[in-house]
Amino acid sequence: MNDSRVIMNVQDTDTRQNNFSEVELGYTKKEAIKEANRCLHCLNPRCVEGCPVGIKIPEFIKYIKEDNIKKAYEVISSASALPAICGRVCPQEKQCEGKCIKGLKGEAIAIGALERYVADYAIENNLSSIKSNNKNGKKIAIIGSGPAGLTCAGELAKNNYNVTIYEVLHEAGGVLTYGIPEFRLPKEIVKKQIDSLINLGVDIKLNVPIGNAIKIEDLKKEYDAIFIATGAGLPKFMGIAGENANEVFSANEILTRINLMKSYKDDSKTPIKKGKVAYVIGGGNVAMDAVRSLKRLGIEAHLMYRRSEEELPARKVEVKHAKEEGISFDMLQNPQKILTDEDNHVIGMEVVDMVLGDVGEDGRRSVTENNDFIHIVDCDMVVMALGTSPNHEALKDSNIKLDDKGLIIVDNTKTSMDNVYAGGDIVTGSATVILAMEAGKKAAQEIMNKIG
Ligand code: FAD
Ligand code: SF4
Repeated sequence: MNDSRVIMNVQDTDTRQNNFSEVELGYTKKEAIKEANRCLHCLNPRCVEGCPVGIKIPEFIKYIKEDNIKKAYEVISSASALPAICGRVCPQEKQCEGKCIKGLKGEAIAIGALERYVADYAIENNLSSIKSNNKNGKKIAIIGSGPAGLTCAGELAKNNYNVTIYEVLHEAGGVLTYGIPEFRLPKEIVKKQIDSLINLGVDIKLNVPIGNAIKIEDLKKEYDAIFIATGAGLPKFMGIAGENANEVFSANEILTRINLMKSYKDDSKTPIKKGKVAYVIGGGNVAMDAVRSLKRLGIEAHLMYRRSEEELPARKVEVKHAKEEGISFDMLQNPQKILTDEDNHVIGMEVVDMVLGDVGEDGRRSVTENNDFIHIVDCDMVVMALGTSPNHEALKDSNIKLDDKGLIIVDNTKTSMDNVYAGGDIVTGSATVILAMEAGKKAAQEIMNKIG
C-alpha cells in the first residue's frame, strides 16, 4: 500500500520568482483527509511531546478524518492562539513531525500542513473566539506584539483579564509582520489572527515606544502585572572594512522595508535602492528570507555562507524553495572586506574560502579560513543576516537584571522586578515563533497564579 505523505501544492517556480504571493498553497479537503488517514493515533503520541504548546495532535487529526473541522479547531485553539501562523512557519521537522513514529521507518505525518488546513478553515468560516464581557477587573500591560506578546494576551483575555499591548511600530505582529515575507506568511493571515485576539477584548496601542515618554515604572502604577516581549531586533554586523558603505544593509532593514513599507512598489514613499547583484551573508531563515525577497525584486541574488550546505541552519523546505527559485548558493566562503568606489558605493567583496573542521562542543563543525584562496566577487549590494541581539529601549531606568549577552534573566518567566515578567527572544535570544508562544503562555499562567 502506498503510504506516502500527501505533498502540498506550490506556486510554479517561474511564476513565483516574480511575485510575493504565498509559495505553498495549502491542502484541499480531500488531501487533508487523506493525510489525516495516515495517522496511527498512538496511545503515547510522541508528536505531542515535540510540541512546545502541547497541542493534542492525534485528537485534532481524528476530527479531520471525520471532516469535523470545527471540533478540530477547538482542540487546536485551546492550546495555540496562532495556529494559521504556526502551521506555516514552525520548524515542525524538528518538533512534532521530528518525533512522529511514522517518521522512524517512512514519512512523518504532515502535522503542520494539517494544522494550517484547520486554521485557514476557521478563518474562512469565522470560527474565532468570542469576546468575554465578564472582565475580572485586573489589568495587564504587555510590551511588544510579536508571538510572545500576542499569545500571553490571548491566554489572559480568555481568562477575563483586561489586557493592553503596547507596540512601537504602526502595525502589530512583530517579526510575523515585519520580518517573515509575504510569500511564506501572508500578512492577511497575521492580521486575521490578531483580529481574533482583538475580538477576545485585547486592546492594542500602536506607535507607542515604551522606555521614553512611558516607562516601565509608569506602567507599574496603572497595571497589576507587566509582560515584556520586545524581541531581539538589533542586527549584528561583521566588523569588516567597507561595512559602512551605502549599499550594505542588515537583513532586518531590507525585510522591514519590503514587508512593512512595501518599498518595492513604484509608488512607495520610501523606495528601496535596488542593486543588480546582491550577496546575502548568513545561512539561517532570515538569510533565506532576505535572499528570496531580493530575487523577487529582479536582483541576481547570492547566498554566501561560511559552512557547507549540509550545515545550513535554515529550514530544509526553505533551502529547497530557494534553490528552485534560482538563488546562487556560494558555500564555504566568507567576505573579508567590502570594496567601494571613491563615493563609498559597493563595487564588490574580497572573499576567502573556508575549510570545515571537527564537530565542536556546540554540536557544529568548526570552520577556518584558507588564506591561500582569496578572490574578488563583483556586486553592488551586501545584506548581513548574521543574527540579532536585544534592544533595551523598553527597559530604560528599570534596573531589570540582564545576563552578559544582554538578555533578561528570568525565573521561569519572572524578572528581577516585582510583578514584571518576560519571555520570547528578549529572554532566549533569536529563537522561534513557537518558543516565543510557549513563553507567552507560561507567563500568562504565572501572572494568573500570582495575582489571582
Ligand atoms: P518579536 O517577534 O521580535 O516581537 C517583538 C515586538 O516588540 C516587535 O513588534 C517590536 O516592534 C516590539 N517592541 C520592541 N521594543 C519595543 C518598545 N520599546 N516598546 C514597544 N514595543 C516594542 N521563527 C520560526 O519559528 N519560523 C520561521 O520561519 C522564522 N523565520 C524568521 C524570519 C525572520 C526574517 C526573522 C527575523 C525571524 C524568524 N523567526 C522564525 C524567528 C521568530 O520570528 C522569532 O523568534 C519570534 O518572532 C520572537 O517573538 P517575540 O514575540 O519574542 O519577538
Ligand atoms: Fe499520529 Fe505520528 Fe502523532 Fe502517532 S506520533 S499520533 S502517527 S502524528
